[in-house]
Amino acid sequence: MSPVVEMKNVQKNFGALQVLKGIDLTVDAGEVVAIIGQSGSGKSTALRCLDRLETIEGGELRVCGHALHDRKVDLARLRQDVGIVFQSYNLFPHMTAAENVMLALRLVKKKPFAEARTVAEAVLTRVGLADRMDMYPEQLSGGQQQRVAIARGLALAPKLMLFDEVTSALDPQLTTEVLKVIEQVARDGMTMVLVTHEMDFARKVANRVVYMHKGRVNVDGPASVLDAPPTAELADFLKSA
Ligand code: ADP
Ligand code: MG
Repeated sequence: MSPVVEMKNVQKNFGALQVLKGIDLTVDAGEVVAIIGQSGSGKSTALRCLDRLETIEGGELRVCGHALHDRKVDLARLRQDVGIVFQSYNLFPHMTAAENVMLALRLVKKKPFAEARTVAEAVLTRVGLADRMDMYPEQLSGGQQQRVAIARGLALAPKLMLFDEVTSALDPQLTTEVLKVIEQVARDGMTMVLVTHEMDFARKVANRVVYMHKGRVNVDGPASVLDAPPTAELADFLKSA
């Protein structure tokens, strides 16, 4: 089976700034890969490239069989295969939790109302919000809103889920409830790439850890690299993390 993600020498610049200086990364089906690294090392940019929110200048990039280095990529089909969750939840304030989830199903998957509602109920139950479906974002805690955003991603039954520092705006208790949901989704077999600064979470949930340093992959190994860092750069980073 071909890998879910295949990055070969991927390069990305913002003007004169070289942000990704040749990234190689392969993710197989069922893998959970945690990307860690200092602020500004290119983690978010690398993740955004995987959903074609950024175009790349060089190299090859394939995600769920879509060749993203090709200008002719079918974005509508890519977005059905890849779900992404950000630090900010980006929910529509005038729509309930269920309506926020249903919107993606209606627009992206063209599902009829009743079917969309059934799927929304199922995924909101999966993230522990069975009793909050008809509430508006402002009636929910930050952790609950983030779980709605995760449910919205899951609703499309993607082949790959991307998470970018999804708990960094939350206090420790709400962080724990969101991480539990992500851990359960991982256990259910979802292929995931997550940018995180939660080292304990990475240790527990990730099969692989990728340490990015100044736009390059400095370490790519099992979660045990967090306990026995193979490079001086990762060792320094872990001391400060
Ligand atoms: P990280 O997620 O590891 O903190 P980012 O990928 O967000 O790093 O950013 C890497 C570098 O690219 C930083 O120097 C950042 O300022 C720069 N950068 C990110 N997005 C843009 C953009 N849209 N325009 C210009 N520079 C950007
Ligand atoms: Mg970032």
